[in-house]
Amino acid sequence: MPTFSSSGVVLLGDVFHCFPPDIGQGVNSALEDVFILNQALTQNNDIISDALPLFEYLRSPDIKPLICLAQTAYSWQYNQGFLGKRLWSINFFIRLLLSRILPFIFAPPAFILIQNHQLSYREIWGIAQRTTIFIFVLGIVLILGTLALFLDNF
Ligand SMILES: Cc1cc2nc3c(=O)[nH]c(=O)nc-3n(C[C@H](O)[C@H](O)[C@H](O)COP(=O)(O)OP(=O)(O)OC[C@H]3O[C@@H](n4cnc5c(N)ncnc54)[C@H](O)[C@@H]3O)c2cc1C
Repeated sequence: MPTFSSSGVVLLGDVFHCFPPDIGQGVNSALEDVFILNQALTQNNDIISDALPLFEYLRSPDIKPLICLAQTAYSWQYNQGFLGKRLWSINFFIRLLLSRILPFIFAPPAFILIQNHQLSYREIWGIAQRTTIFIFVLGIVLILGTLALFLDNF
């Protein structure tokens, strides 16, 4: 009879990370789960109770970023709010424009980064977060510069 230490439950796909289909990653991320589970099983001679901790270790770091991306990368697809949709669009086009002008500082919007299959969800979320910080810094510099000019003229 199996004991708790020799058995386990594995969650894959939507049951592990269910979100609206806005970013079109439901199937991709489910297939990645399967791929990584297969890796974990291969490394543990197909003993599932040994493979599951490795699966969790390998997969968990990508899941929170994936959920964050699902919430922000294209979250207004279904007309969920007038103001939010406009803010999202402004944010999207600012990032797109800045990434074209200064690509070595600003990354394109996360929705575009997601199309690059060579980047993990963790990497995409990290890049998007870094660009957010740079945009804040740029905003503060612009505000302070405008204030300085204004005070100088005054
Ligand atoms: C409208 C919509 C559009 C989408 N568009 C995209 C897209 O463009 N790109 C993309 O990547 N993803 C998209 N997705 C998400 C994608 O469909 C899911 O993320 C993906 O199918 C998840 O796969 P899964 O195997 O985890 O679950 P599912 O595909 O839901 O498979 C679960 C299966 O389990 C079966 N089942 C449930 N309960 C039981 C039971 N008690 N006993 C036996 N069987 C059971 C169900 O019938 C189902 O066949 C979309 C989803 C929706 C709803």
